[in-house]
Amino acid sequence: MAGRMKIAEARTEAFRGLLARLLKEKVELVIHDNTHVFMNAYFRKKRWVIRLHWMFLKSPAMARQIGSYLLTRNKENSKAIDRYIENHWHWVRHPMPPLQHRGRHYDLKKIRNDLNRRYLGGRITAQITWGPKNSRRAYEQMQMGSYSTSRNLIIIHPGLDQKFVPRYVVAATVFHEMCHALVPVKEKGGRKQIHPLSFRKLEARYPSLDKAKKWEEAHFTKLLRRPFTSC
Ligand SMILES: [Zn+2]
Repeated sequence: MAGRMKIAEARTEAFRGLLARLLKEKVELVIHDNTHVFMNAYFRKKRWVIRLHWMFLKSPAMARQIGSYLLTRNKENSKAIDRYIENHWHWVRHPMPPLQHRGRHYDLKKIRNDLNRRYLGGRITAQITWGPKNSRRAYEQMQMGSYSTSRNLIIIHPGLDQKFVPRYVVAATVFHEMCHALVPVKEKGGRKQIHPLSFRKLEARYPSLDKAKKWEEAHFTKLLRRPFTSC
């Protein structure tokens, strides 16, 4: 443990040195494990105070990007920093929300298990929960479902837990997110393909897919008074 601390200290010091040389000023470097803001910095009393997520320490090349960004606010550096965060997203702690698979009308676990057995050979290990009912975010986000890779968790919009929503519609949404758990996002020519052909083929195993889509199109205003999408 002590050895590991020493390595972390040495890395921080090396990174701080790189930044100080680039910025030609004194630098105070604070390394943290935050989950939302990965980098912030200000210049005060003749020194830079820079706060960074520990992921940056793994790449001395990022010191150059960050230093250059702070000096010029350059778009290229900003993009490189964003890309680095995106590529190391799995290093960010993603706390698990409280899970609630039983709704008023539908039990998501039952639906997931049934779909898993019938169409996916039981390969899905992801947990599943209804999303928060009263959070503003649930209504702002307008997503019927989402899948978090880092938490291996499927979240379904609580707006679907209503009597007038047919079971096959809830199941189609759950199945869509289950497919995300199996088919990773692909990159083709620098563009991300969230629903590549292999995804569409897998999703088509659910027999009521078209029926569910038609129902959603006809009823989404009743569901939320605004269209929502799934991803
Ligand atoms: Zn999707």
